[in-house]
Amino acid sequence: MNKEGLLLIISGPSGSGKGTVTRKLPEDVFALSISMTTRQKRGEEVDGKHYIFCTEEEFVKVREEGGLLEHASFSGNFYGTPVSYVKQKTLEGKNVVLEIEVVGALQVKEKYPEAVLIFLMPPTILELGKRLRDRGTESEDEIERRLRIAHEEMAELPKYDYLVINDDIEQALADIHAIVNVEGLKPFRGEGKVDRFYGNNVNS
Ligand code: 5GP
Repeated sequence: MNKEGLLLIISGPSGSGKGTVTRKLPEDVFALSISMTTRQKRGEEVDGKHYIFCTEEEFVKVREEGGLLEHASFSGNFYGTPVSYVKQKTLEGKNVVLEIEVVGALQVKEKYPEAVLIFLMPPTILELGKRLRDRGTESEDEIERRLRIAHEEMAELPKYDYLVINDDIEQALADIHAIVNVEGLKPFRGEGKVDRFYGNNVNS
């Protein structure tokens, strides 16, 4: 049997580079959860890959059937994590990565205290504004709204387990790998190791 994977939540202001960083995590050990959202597709996004794009009715139906691990509204749209994928991949031993905003992240931590909350922060607020403008996918109004939300999100930073600064992507990735390694050493995740210590037959 596989050892269960970690549930990693990566939050941080819109424009902090969560998507860029998480997409560079190796697929053999990490599985990126695909969220449902009611927002419009932007830029090069692909339905079923970046998000499952849906109507408000579809979203509400899935939510009411208990199909979401967490959900939140962000800048006027709904976002939520389908629970089935997360369960399947953690049981397969993958580290499942949820790239979600703070309200949803804290819902997950409440349900699953063993989840690991990582806050990804750009080096400065000026750099955050620059990244949002440079990606050219949102209107100036939407950018202003996202920068306002960024301040609210920063206020939740103390509730996170780790802070990673995304100044340099390679360094941010190295930090995430270090977090995964150190989390794997926590005694409460070490059941298999204790079994082996006592000579019980476990094969993970
Ligand atoms: P964007 O519109 O830029 O793709 O996402 C807006 C915010 O929603 C980002 O902070 C993103 O991480 C977050 N988000 C994406 N998917 C989910 C989800 O399933 N649940 C929650 N709570 N937030 C999400």
